[in-house]
Amino acid sequence: MTTELPRVLIDRFQRRVDYVRLSVTDRCDFRCVYCMAEDMTFVPKQHVLSLEEIHEIARAFVELGVGKIRLTGGEPLIRNNILSLIKPLGQLPGLDQLVITSNGSQLHRMASSLRELGVKRINISLDSLQPRRFRQLTRHGNLDQVIAGIDAAIAAKFERIRLNAVILKGRNEDEVLDLVNFALQRSIDIAFIEEMPLGLIDEHNRALSFCSSEELREMIAREYPLEPLGDPLGADGPARYFSTGNGVSRIGFISPHSHNFCHLCNRVRVTAEGRLLLCLGNEHSVDLRAVLRAPDYTQDKLKRTIISAMASKPERHHFDLDETPDIVRFMNTTGG
Ligand code: SAM
Ligand code: SF4
Repeated sequence: MTTELPRVLIDRFQRRVDYVRLSVTDRCDFRCVYCMAEDMTFVPKQHVLSLEEIHEIARAFVELGVGKIRLTGGEPLIRNNILSLIKPLGQLPGLDQLVITSNGSQLHRMASSLRELGVKRINISLDSLQPRRFRQLTRHGNLDQVIAGIDAAIAAKFERIRLNAVILKGRNEDEVLDLVNFALQRSIDIAFIEEMPLGLIDEHNRALSFCSSEELREMIAREYPLEPLGDPLGADGPARYFSTGNGVSRIGFISPHSHNFCHLCNRVRVTAEGRLLLCLGNEHSVDLRAVLRAPDYTQDKLKRTIISAMASKPERHHFDLDETPDIVRFMNTTGG
């Protein structure tokens, strides 16, 4: 006799998991200095989940009560035929929010299709407004193209657009106010993310480049009246948001170092290879690809694997910038 499956995912700390970040590729057209090494070895193509396998995982999660899926990577929009995955995801009954994080390089040509296919919100990474510096930080990026992508996203009328910026001391900390102004002028949100020690990079010392959310908040508050908005883990994830003078844009701070949000964690990640990661800062994972590719695969087996994985979701992460990272995966592998 088979037992009835629950419709919600609850971990052993009684946290409800209702948000999944799916990495659709570990590849990227950029090599941001805090995210990747210059020379990267990517996962062999045959190890990467097919679009059908990703859809199967998404459907299983949604039937287990997940209401929000974020597509990420690597750069999700450089995955071949990505729109053919997004279309059925946008129609999955029970999925309230299909959202994407992108570096913006392909948005000038894809923003309106994404919106039409049901993507509600989009996060776009932007760390500099100076073309040369943008190129240095991303190693390959073209600022004009990304700004054209941001403007195409605004024209496509996503419910919310948020810029994501990682600020590094000595690299782009002098642009914090320019980035805020850029967001305010366009009536979109901006979030500042503290750099996390994921993967070994040799380009800078993460401990020396670290800029805390608190420093940035003080810098911005000298120019703008920042009023805290509540609900840190509401629809918006772990960002702590503040309202600004224009009444529309919000400024957020994501502070995995200075503000631990683990007790409210409602999310898990799936890597491009189908590894279900239960915590950003720990290596606990379960191989969903093995389940999907087994000869006796059924959707029921996949769901049972996901349900039992909840028992190994750790209570919290520990990041230490001065230590060699325990986490050898890069952010592009993790699906940031
Ligand atoms: N390629 C897309 C992009 O850049 O938006 C999506 C994937 S990227 C890994 C997702 C987010 O992670 C980006 O906003 C990026 O700035 C952030 N990120 C990457 N490496 C990081 C690190 N070591 N610490 C903090 N944030 C990081
Ligand atoms: Fe690519 Fe995004 Fe990582 Fe930059 S942050 S290298 S755009 S995956």
